[in-house]
Amino acid sequence: MAGSTTRGRLPDLKREITIAGGGLAGLALASALRRHGVPVTVLEAGNYPRHRVCGEFISGTSGETLERLGIAGLFEGSLRHHTLAWHESGRLIHRDRFAEPAIGISRYRLDERLRQHAVLSGTDVRSGVRARPEPREGLVWAAGRRPKNGQWVGLKAHVRGLTVTADLEMHMGANGYAGLAGVEDGWTNVCGLFQIDRSLRATGTDLLAAYLAAGGNHALADALRGCEWREQSFSAVAGFDLGRQPGVPGLLALGDAESM
Ligand SMILES: Cc1cc2nc3c(=O)[nH]c(=O)nc-3n(C[C@H](O)[C@H](O)[C@H](O)COP(=O)(O)OP(=O)(O)OC[C@H]3O[C@@H](n4cnc5c(N)ncnc54)[C@H](O)[C@@H]3O)c2cc1C
Repeated sequence: MAGSTTRGRLPDLKREITIAGGGLAGLALASALRRHGVPVTVLEAGNYPRHRVCGEFISGTSGETLERLGIAGLFEGSLRHHTLAWHESGRLIHRDRFAEPAIGISRYRLDERLRQHAVLSGTDVRSGVRARPEPREGLVWAAGRRPKNGQWVGLKAHVRGLTVTADLEMHMGANGYAGLAGVEDGWTNVCGLFQIDRSLRATGTDLLAAYLAAGGNHALADALRGCEWREQSFSAVAGFDLGRQPGVPGLLALGDAESM
C-alpha cells in the first residue's frame, strides 16, 4: 500500500493505486485519493448507470460530512426524508422522525454521479473490467460482498402509484423485511431482504410481491401488483452472508468486501 513506510521515511503518496470495484466504497476512495494527488485507476466489472439492490436512503450522515468529503453537490435534486413508519405483517406499530433528514437517491443516479465525480477529479475509471483478488502492492479490493452460500436474498425495484404514509416505511414480515423510500422522479424504491424460499416460483417483480405475501405483508404485496414498475429497475442479489466477509491474506479490503 502507498501508506506503508519504513521508520523515518515519508510514504510515497504518488504511487499509483488500483481499486477493484467501482461501487460506493471504491469510487469514494478514488475521489478522496485524487484530492491528495494520488494517481488512481478503478476497475469496475459492470457498467454505469445500473440499478443495485439497496434501500436507497442515507441516514446518519450530516450535510457537513458530505461537504468535508467534497461530495455534497452529488445529492442535488435528491429527496430529504423526515418521517418513518414501522409496520409488522401489515399493522402499523410505530411512527418516528429522523433526528436529521435522510437522503433519498437511487443507486442508478448516485453511482453514476460518483463515477463522473471521480473521473472529473482525474481517476481513470475502466468499466467492464473484472479484476482478480491477487494481493499486490497498491491494490485495494472494493468489489463488494464475497460470494458465499447464504440464506438471504435481496430484491429491489422502483414503483409509481403506491400510497405511502411516511417518507420511509419499514415493513417487517415473518421472512424478512422491506423498506419503501422515495427516490427521484416520483419513483418509490421497494427493497427487501428475505430468507431464501425455494418454494416461491415467481420471477422478477412478481417474486418481490411473492416474498412480501409469504411473510404476511399481503396488503402491500397486492398494492405493489397494481403499481407501475420502472423498467429494468428490478435487481436481485443472493449468495452472501451478513457480517465480516472471508478475506484473502495480504489483500486490503474495503466496504462490503470487508464487512456487510
Ligand atoms: C438489501 C440491501 C439493502 C441495503 N440498503 C441500504 C441503504 O438503504 N442505504 C445504505 O447506505 N446502504 C444500504 N445497503 C448497503 C449498501 O448497498 C452497501 O453497503 C454498499 O453498496 C457497499 O458498497 P461497496 O462499494 O462496498 O460495494 P458495491 O456497491 O457492491 O460495489 C462493488 C462493485 O464492485 C464491482 N465488482 C465486483 N467484482 C468485481 C471484480 N472482480 N472486479 C472489478 N469490479 C468488481 C461490482 O460490479 C460493484 O460495482 C443495502 C444492502 C442490501 C443488500
